[in-house]
This record gives sequence, C-alpha cells and structure tokens, in this order.
Amino acid sequence: MKRALNFNAGPAALPEAVLQKAQGEWLNIEDTGMSVMELSHRSNTFDAIHSKSIALLKEIMDIPDNYEVLFLQGGASLQFTMVPMNLLQSDRKAYYVLTGSWSEKALKEAKKIGNTEIAASAKESNYTYIPAVEEIAYNPADAAYLHITTNNTIYGTQWKGYPQLENAPLIADMSSDILSKKIDVSKFGLIYAGAQKNLGPSGVTVVIIRKDLINSSLTNLPTMLQYETHAKSNSLYNTPPTLAIYLLSLVLEWVQDQGGVEKLEEMNTAKAKLIYDAIDNSEGFYKGHAVPDSRSHMNVTFTLPDDHATKQFLEQAKAAGFVGLNGHRSIGGCRASIYNAVPLSHCAELAEFMKKFKETYSA
Ligand code: PLP
Repeated sequence: MKRALNFNAGPAALPEAVLQKAQGEWLNIEDTGMSVMELSHRSNTFDAIHSKSIALLKEIMDIPDNYEVLFLQGGASLQFTMVPMNLLQSDRKAYYVLTGSWSEKALKEAKKIGNTEIAASAKESNYTYIPAVEEIAYNPADAAYLHITTNNTIYGTQWKGYPQLENAPLIADMSSDILSKKIDVSKFGLIYAGAQKNLGPSGVTVVIIRKDLINSSLTNLPTMLQYETHAKSNSLYNTPPTLAIYLLSLVLEWVQDQGGVEKLEEMNTAKAKLIYDAIDNSEGFYKGHAVPDSRSHMNVTFTLPDDHATKQFLEQAKAAGFVGLNGHRSIGGCRASIYNAVPLSHCAELAEFMKKFKETYSA
C-alpha cells in the first residue's frame, strides 16, 4: 500500500515507523494479552508508558526541573481559557500578540476572564508577518503574562526569536511547531500544544508550566480547570487519553531516533526550502502569503494567479496523490503543512509538481 502524500494541517501525518510499531502491539501490549486501550490507567503497564512519555519529553526538550509536564484534554482551545483562568489576577492585565486566528481566539477567551490588551498585531496586513520584538508594547508593572502563538498554522508565519520579558511570564501556544526546532524552555512561563501536529494523534494536550506559576495560580476554580489538580496527581486525576499518550510515547521515541530536535530542525529547514524555492522561482506564478523573514517551516501558504488556477492545481494535485493542500477557508489559496513526520521526499515531490503545473498550466 502506498502511503498518501499527506500535507494535512492537523490531524496530520504521523511517522510510518510509529504506526507500524503500534500495529505490532495493537492486540497485545507488553505481553498483557490486551490492547493499550484496554489497560487500566492505574496499571503498572500504563504507568510505565505515561512516565516514559513525560521523561522523554523532558529529555528531548531539555525541560528544566522547575517545570511540570501535564497531559490534559480539551485541545489547545481549552488552554485559551485555562491560561487566563489560572494566571490572570483581577488587578493585572493579560497581553496578547495577534498573529492570526488562533491568537485572536485565545484573546477572545481571555477577555471573558479578565483585563486584556493587544501588545502588537499584524492583523492590518492580513497576518503576513510576525511583529518585531521591539514593537511589542506591554507594561511590566501590571502584566500577568504575555501570550504569543509561535507558529500560525493558518497564515503560515512563525516566530524566529522570542521576546525577553521583564517581570512577566511568556506564554506560548506552540501547537503547530513544538518539537520542530530547538527552543530554550526556560524563556517561557508556560507552553501548550495540542498533539495532533508534531506530537501524535489528537486527544492529548501537552502543557509545560513553570512550577512557581502553578503555586501562584488562582484557586477556587473548577477542579478540572486548575493546573494544580493535574500537577498534584501527575496528570492522572481522572482517566487520561491513554491511547493518545501511548502514541505520543512512540512519537517521542521516533524523535530521539531521528537525532532529536536539532536534527529535525535541519530537516524541516531543508523541507521548507524546497517548497519556498518552488514559489520563489516561479516568476510570480506562486505567491507566498508570508513575508520571507516570517515564513513558517511548518505551514507553507501560497496563492496562484486566480481561482481557476487554484482549482486546477488542487484537482490535479489530488489526482496525483497529494492530500490536504487546500488553504484554510479563511484565507483560501493553498497550504502545505510539513510537520516533522512529513518526509523530505514528499516535499521534493510537491516542489516538482508545482514546477510542472506552472509549466503546463494555461488559463
Ligand atoms: N492553536 C493553534 C496554533 C492551532 O493550529 C490549533 C489547531 O489547529 C489550535 C490552537 C486549536 O487546537 P485544538 O483543536 O487542539 O483545540
């Protein structure tokens, strides 16, 4: 069976080796005579999987000891709410940098909880760029935190460096570029990410939170919405998404087998270059949505001369075995999501297809 040339934005391609390993253990994990889905979440076998996932993530991301790794549910979208619920004190303000629809959604939820302010925004440009760090305006005297979205899945922009804040934690939605490159976790107060792009299947959300933020979190919140609940119970307060956590553990092993995030970063840079080169060498036939220095290495967004060309491109791409190339409904055009699990060879095939399509297309 030929695997699809899968450029879906999420849920997205998983490493084939991970799926094969899971298939081999599907009916009988660790000689239990059960599928991983049938294990008690309180069993030793599941506990080992759970602990391994946390340990691997800490190792791969070099997470310092003063951080807690939590496995939650509700997707990144629930973090839009949990972050301000836990961290936005009534006498403080939450600052948001708007770089796309997901940061707008995060801000919308925070507004329901407390005082907010837009610290910088690229909305006027239809989110073609990431604001320069110097453009970010916040007041350290009243800031509860500053929130950014490190990679904008829909618009195809990505932060290359992060703001250094005084007296306020930096909070990051890293859903679509976690584990795609080396980052210094100690620069962040809290990182969250839905799993369904670089971490595994949907169903588990990773939160990496500095311990002092858990300790200073607001109390009197609904139990399940309090970081402290999950931190105190090692993310086993209630039934966790066991299958998703198991698959996460396999993806993390795969990341190690690839040589860690440094190697993945090199690979992702090479993959992105193939497609951006196809855009840049097309004499304006393809136009990138993002300005060059804000280009994402995870989601490459581009347009064609008109709707007819776009329709033809997508139809022919589909017939050639490419999946998921249509742009998000809010910006149209095309998008190739090239997360960690998308092989370089698939990006090369896409770049070649783009070149051929341009040569043969007639309006
Ligand atoms: N944030 C970003 C950057 C995303 O790309 C997405 C989903 O694509 C979300 C948040 C929402 O994630 P979820 O569907 O896990 O709530």
